[in-house]
Amino acid sequence: MIGHGQLSVSGAVDLANQMKDDGLGHKAVEALASLGCGGAYPSNCERDLFRWLSTLFGFQLQPYVIPLKLQVDSYTPKEQAVRVLLPHEILHALSGHPFAFDSLIKGNMSDESRMCFWKHCRRLEGWRGHPALSSSPLDRLVPITLHNDGAQMYTDDEFCVWSVASLFGSVGLVQDPLLQKFPFVIIAERHMRSEAVRKQVNTTVAQLFAWSIQISMDGKAPSVGFFEEELTGYRAEIAGQQLAKGWRACYFTTKADLKARKIMHDFTRSYNSNLMCDSCLAACGQGCPDGMNYKNTSDHAAWRETMIDHRQYLAMPGPHSVWRCVPGWKLETLAFDLMHNIYLGTGRDLVASAIRTLVRQGVYTHVSDNMETVFDHIHKEVLRDTKAYGLSLPAKPPLNDASLGGADYAELSSKYKAIHVKVLIWWVALKCQRCADGSPGDQVLQVLATCCYSLQHAIETLDSSGLVMSWASASEAADALMLHAKSFSWLSSYFLRNVSFSFG
Ligand SMILES: [Zn+2]
Repeated sequence: MIGHGQLSVSGAVDLANQMKDDGLGHKAVEALASLGCGGAYPSNCERDLFRWLSTLFGFQLQPYVIPLKLQVDSYTPKEQAVRVLLPHEILHALSGHPFAFDSLIKGNMSDESRMCFWKHCRRLEGWRGHPALSSSPLDRLVPITLHNDGAQMYTDDEFCVWSVASLFGSVGLVQDPLLQKFPFVIIAERHMRSEAVRKQVNTTVAQLFAWSIQISMDGKAPSVGFFEEELTGYRAEIAGQQLAKGWRACYFTTKADLKARKIMHDFTRSYNSNLMCDSCLAACGQGCPDGMNYKNTSDHAAWRETMIDHRQYLAMPGPHSVWRCVPGWKLETLAFDLMHNIYLGTGRDLVASAIRTLVRQGVYTHVSDNMETVFDHIHKEVLRDTKAYGLSLPAKPPLNDASLGGADYAELSSKYKAIHVKVLIWWVALKCQRCADGSPGDQVLQVLATCCYSLQHAIETLDSSGLVMSWASASEAADALMLHAKSFSWLSSYFLRNVSFSFG
């Protein structure tokens, strides 16, 4: 509960003391109750918890201090000592705890499955020639996912978080995503107000990560620090020794939303400029040629011929990403993931547009003329269907006119989290299919059903394949996504000609 932010440490100590008073004398409860002198000094509880946990698990993980110029109490940047964790040390510390390591790092996979994974990746463009894949035994190699995102830890106070995870962890026994990721640098956004400061932080974090991941690839604890400084304490003790019981790790992929992706890599082509893609020459905005318009979803659209590979990216005029110093980093290793691009991206537009279209096509005329009554009816329908299919939906925000976006642009409000959008995509696919079956003459409903179902089908194909996707399921998912994009663009131009509110 503490880890999920539902309870403060001092709150947990209070609770443990009450349980102890009620006669629940479990050892762990007593230990928790004793923190902060039995709760008498609430402000010390958190410090005591960390001391206790580190001795309890023999956890040898210490922060590493790096200097960064930050805008802490004025706009003028001042050098600050920032405490970070080193990815190779996180891995080493976890290797002392077999249950955690087996699940979070090795994904409870067999040696053969891990070998299969690497042999498959070695053939793919993004990992061909990766320095970690050429020599070493691949069955003891861990693929590291780098993640950069904003996290709001307090109201109106956002932090920029860089974290690492083992890609294998996603298929392990521990399914809590909060336990699978390990933040290693956290900087408050308000301390990086100027672009120069942000760039300096990004560059230093990239270099630090590159240094640490190279150590993980070599599998041996370093004898000097990142700044070539002499090491002290536990770091000096283990210098030159084998790390993580012989398990090595290498950089595999980067996950980020489009904003973080642009900032990390300083892309000049990005979602908010006319040349809107960092990996091809697709364009948007007025005056862009039809063939290059990203909304042109035809098979022969000219932009499809302009895909940029890593070699071309480096040959193009800069700036180039500071993350290219990371061994194995290639443009193709930057992932577009379902969560950022569908559930927090186009899925929001699709769900809101689909619901508004169902209403417009007269599916709910028998319910009421009053829109709020109709939306209330739809909300109950969603709850009933998800229950009938055994899908548990965490407290879903009520559906109403405001939660479907403004009159001229349909988009689900941000109150809907990724998990809600995922369930709602499933629901609109089901609902539109039912309505289309009942109205074979309604062209809009037919295309809408295809649009929603094909996306749902692609999601299911991706969800049901393991870490290595067969070529057959990959092309099945790709075909479904293509059909989705085509029907989406048909609906978009239909509504542009008729009424403009949906499929923007
Ligand atoms: Zn592109």
